Amino acid sequence: MRRWWPPSPVSSLPAPALRLGLFGGTFDPVHRGHLEAARQVKEALDLDRMLLMVANDPWQKDGGVVASAEDRLAMVTAACVDCPGLEPGRMEIDRGGVTYTVDTVDELLEANPGARIYLVVGADVVSQLPTWGGAERLSHLVTVAVINRPGAEIGPVPPGWNVEVVEVEPLDISSTGVRERLRTGGEVDGLLPPPVVRLLEERPLYAANR
Ligand code: ATP
Ligand code: MG
Repeated sequence: MRRWWPPSPVSSLPAPALRLGLFGGTFDPVHRGHLEAARQVKEALDLDRMLLMVANDPWQKDGGVVASAEDRLAMVTAACVDCPGLEPGRMEIDRGGVTYTVDTVDELLEANPGARIYLVVGADVVSQLPTWGGAERLSHLVTVAVINRPGAEIGPVPPGWNVEVVEVEPLDISSTGVRERLRTGGEVDGLLPPPVVRLLEERPLYAANR
């Protein structure tokens, strides 16, 4: 017969599901807009972990990618050193080839059975979700955390996706804008975290004459 008193020890209770943030991007380069948004989403949704997952080959990227995947990862890794709670993700680089987020989610769920995955996307990205590889399956595997972004309207939210909007402090920064400033010798303080500024001083990945 089941014992009703004293209550069963806490250790016999099922562990709560891991709450995992997956913030994917090209991060070419990673900037303060990414880092601040990741930090705020982690806090707002009370996530256990927040991964900044560097896309190996983002096939939908207009205009292509400038820095190599390893250099983009090096920038994200350097940035995360100063941001407790944010972790660089190299899974998509290790897998190689064209990047599909659904494959990353499969890997994360295999390594963390029962985890609840929050896929973080900016307002400019949410309407494109149905065009992603394996979109239908992905829509059943994740909750999408949509963050506001200056100049981008949130929506329309595609049907069939479980979406939560997380309001973050708006920072009008884009990697395209940062690359342009670096190319023309403009000031990037305030746009990039100091470790990334230092890394780019050593490796001028976005200089005009590369
Ligand atoms: P690019 O100009 O090269 O497209 P980006 O700044 O948009 O670069 P990405 O790597 O394309 O950066 O974006 C990764 C994710 O971060 C996307 O979901 C994007 O919407 C989001 N994001 C990027 N910048 C911001 C920002 N300033 N505020 C909120 N979300 C952002
Ligand atoms: Mg972008």
